[in-house]
This record gives sequence, C-alpha cells and structure tokens, in this order.
Amino acid sequence: MTMNIIVVGCTHAGTAAITQMAKLYPDARITVYERNDNISFLSCGIALHVGGVVKDAGQLFYATPDQLAGLGVKTNMKHDVLVVDTDAKTLLVRNLATGEKFTDSYDKLIMTTGSWPIIPQMEGIGLDNIVLCKNYNHSQAIIEKAKKADRIAVIGAGYIGIELVEAFEQLGKQVTLIDNMERILYKYLDREFTDLTEQALIDKGIAIATGQTVTSFGGKDGRVTTVMTTAGEYEADLVVLCIGFRPNTGLLSGQVDMLPNGAILVDEYMRTSKEDVFAAGDSCAVRYNPTGQHAYIPLATNAVRMGTLAAKNLLRPTVKYLGTQGTSGIKIYDYNIASTGMTETAALAAGMNVKNVTIIDNYRPEFMPTYEQVTLKVVYETDSRRIIGAQVLSKADLTQSINTLSVCIQNRMTMEELSYVDFFFQPHYNKPWNLLNQAGLQAI
Ligand SMILES: Cc1cc2nc3c(=O)[nH]c(=O)nc-3n(C[C@H](O)[C@H](O)[C@H](O)COP(=O)(O)OP(=O)(O)OC[C@H]3O[C@@H](n4cnc5c(N)ncnc54)[C@H](O)[C@@H]3O)c2cc1C
Repeated sequence: MTMNIIVVGCTHAGTAAITQMAKLYPDARITVYERNDNISFLSCGIALHVGGVVKDAGQLFYATPDQLAGLGVKTNMKHDVLVVDTDAKTLLVRNLATGEKFTDSYDKLIMTTGSWPIIPQMEGIGLDNIVLCKNYNHSQAIIEKAKKADRIAVIGAGYIGIELVEAFEQLGKQVTLIDNMERILYKYLDREFTDLTEQALIDKGIAIATGQTVTSFGGKDGRVTTVMTTAGEYEADLVVLCIGFRPNTGLLSGQVDMLPNGAILVDEYMRTSKEDVFAAGDSCAVRYNPTGQHAYIPLATNAVRMGTLAAKNLLRPTVKYLGTQGTSGIKIYDYNIASTGMTETAALAAGMNVKNVTIIDNYRPEFMPTYEQVTLKVVYETDSRRIIGAQVLSKADLTQSINTLSVCIQNRMTMEELSYVDFFFQPHYNKPWNLLNQAGLQAI
C-alpha cells in the first residue's frame, strides 16, 4: 500500500524534509500544505534585500512547487491547515484561493509550521506602518513603506533588529533602536562585545534606546507617529517589531508534549510524543548542549538539520540529532562577530559556576603588512573545565573559529584539551599559537 505522508508548512524545515523524503521513499505519496503563496523563503536575506545588497528578491527562494513536483511531491500553496486530529490521523484544510474546505488523511505527518513574531498587545498596536519582519510579504511591505519613511524605529535589538537598523541607516533614514534589555544583542554577546558594537552603531548616527520597554504607540490618521517607552518618546513613520518568535503549534496543542511556550518536544529522532507525528524546525524545542536541557532556539540551521532527520527517521530510528549550541554570526558594519553556546551573563543567570578567558591580540604577526585586533572570549565551567560558550569579534573574519568551538562544546571538550589541539600556523592567517590554543593555555 502507498505510504501517505503529509507535511504542514514549507519553509526550511519543511523543504529539507520533503526533498529528503522524495529521494528516500520514491513510492510514497507526499502532500504539502503551505498557507503562503511561496515556499522556501530565506528570511536571513531580508535585511540585505531592504538595504539593496540583494536586488532581486527571487534569489531568496531556493525551491518552487514545480521543482518539488519534479520530485513527485504535490505542493498545495495557499492552503491553510485548520485542524489536525492525531487520533483519527486526519487534517481539515482550507483552500485559501477558493474557500473550499476538505479533509485529508496521513500515515505519517511532519509538522514544520515554524514560528510567528511576538506581537505585544498594547495601545496603538493596530496602527498602520507597524510591521513585522518574518516572511517574503513582510519584506516587501518594509521596502515599500520605508520609501516614504524618514524616521524608522526598530523594536528589538537581536540580530534581526540590528541587521535592519544598519540597512535603514545605509538608506539614509533616521533610525532608533529600542530594546528593554540594557544592551543590544544581549542573548548572544557579553558586555565587552556589545560595547564595541553599540559604539559602531552610534558612530553611524543610529540612536540606541536600550533599558526601556515600549508601552504604547501614538498615531495620526490611523498611522503610527510615535513610540512611547518607559523612558521617553520617539518619533517614527515606520516601526518594525522584532522582539522574538513564538512557536506556531496551536494545531497540536493538547495532542503532543510541549514546553510551556508551545514548542513541541521531539526526541533525538524528531518523533513527537504521538506515534507517526514528527516535527522539526522553529515549531520545536531543541536539546541545548551547554545545559543538556530543552530550549527554544529558532534558527534556520536547526530547521534544516531537523527536517532532514525527520525524513531519515520516518520509518525507523536511524540517525540521531546531536543537539545544538545555538551558534550564530552577524556582520555589523566592519565587525565580523560570532558566538556559540552560553555567554558568561547567561551562564551566571542560570546559576552556573563559570570562569572565562578573554584574549585581545592581533590575529596575525605584526611583521605582516596589515593586521587587525581580535577579541575572543571562551566561557567554561569552573569545576569540570568543560567549554560552554565562546564569542569572537574582529574586523578580520575569524568567525569560523566559533564553529570550531561549537564542535568543542558539542564534544564536551575541556580547556586543557583545547590548549593542545593541532591547529595550523601560517603568517597570512594566524600566529604560531592559534588563538584557540592561547585561550586554553591561559585557562590552565
Ligand atoms: C529576518 C530574519 C532573519 C533570519 N536570519 C537567520 C540567519 O541568519 N541564520 C539562521 O540560522 N536563522 C535565521 N533566521 C531564522 C530562520 O529564518 C528560521 O529559523 C527558519 O525560517 C525556521 O524554518 P521553519 O521551516 O522551521 O519555520 P518557518 O520559517 O516559520 O516556516 C513555517 C511555515 O509553515 C507555514 N504554516 C504555518 N502554519 C500553517 C498552517 N496551519 N497551514 C499551512 N501552513 C502553515 C508558514 O506559512 C511557514 O511558511 C532568521 C529569521 C528572520 C525572520
């Protein structure tokens, strides 16, 4: 009998699962429901598109329904899944183009419904020109509205907010960045790093309004004009909300185990607590290796890995997920920045007993015609000496060193082990004692 597989949601986790399954189970019937009118949109390119670096939005898609049809997959765009019944193994679907509702059934279900931006409920939130930043339609709305806006406020100083303020500044806008934490990029970087990056933004004329919470929006003729916070008022013709994401998992609520925020709990084979229901990507919690606990870390990297594994483990447990360090990178003007695992701030807030090594050095010998300063910080547990986090910042691109440290965290390596790992030396690239070795040596 033909195996009936249904995938709900077709961005990164969905597309990864679908393309794998088409190869692995050529005889299966694979049906995809996606409520948008596009699939596989790379949100990571939104700021580059807004800033004009990526001119053609078409380059931000890597799959089309036609390509998937070539693999034997039926993709139904503009189809909203309204109900999932995991006992009856059925779905109620609405065709958004015709309004027609129908039922479909599955043998295996993969939920890749992702996440949606958090929208704070407060006075004025419904005003025009307060926009979200998640999908293709949002990116087009931001670009169109920015053309007519002189003053733009971005709320949320995570990596999405920071990339947008840089793009808006480069378009010549007057930009304000607002966040309730006392520093930008609070989740990713410790103060030594955020002091430098905040200064880079200030040097470009971006106003930074941290340590204050937005309380309401004021408007005129239905359109936003002001953002009110606990510390002041900011004029704005356009407001972009980037304060975080919530898993989009209402369809399964009460049917599978979830974290309190609604993130689906999957095992290392991407199985939910309900038989034949798999989940992947932003809709799920992930195992966070620095703590060994489940955490909500919505990243495309996790989504493509988890989608691929859901496909591989569909019939039987085959390949385990190795967990994540939440490794991420960002370029802010001239600075190349990356981080993995826990910051010192996060570790201390979690009650962990940690130490750190911070190295500030030139990344290659001073006899070279040019060299740049690099700041590297490695955080480790005091007792076990296990590495739990790292951050790097430099005008030279040393971000790959953070990927190396991500491997170290995943493999539970100690600072002692890091000290003597065999890294190459070549004056074009580094010094005889590689920076990572130096960090380990300094700790011992
Ligand atoms: C501006 C921005 C920049 C980013 N930059 C990076 C980056 O540089 N690096 C990185 O690793 N990550 C980045 N991310 C995060 C990354 O985009 C997400 O982690 C990723 O999109 C998650 O993929 P997903 O497939 O799990 O879910 P989503 O992308 O959320 O997709 C879920 C899909 O499911 C569909 N859907 C939901 N419910 C239903 C339903 N009931 N019926 C039908 N369809 C439904 C939605 O329409 C959507 O298409 C960025 C995100 C944003 C917004």
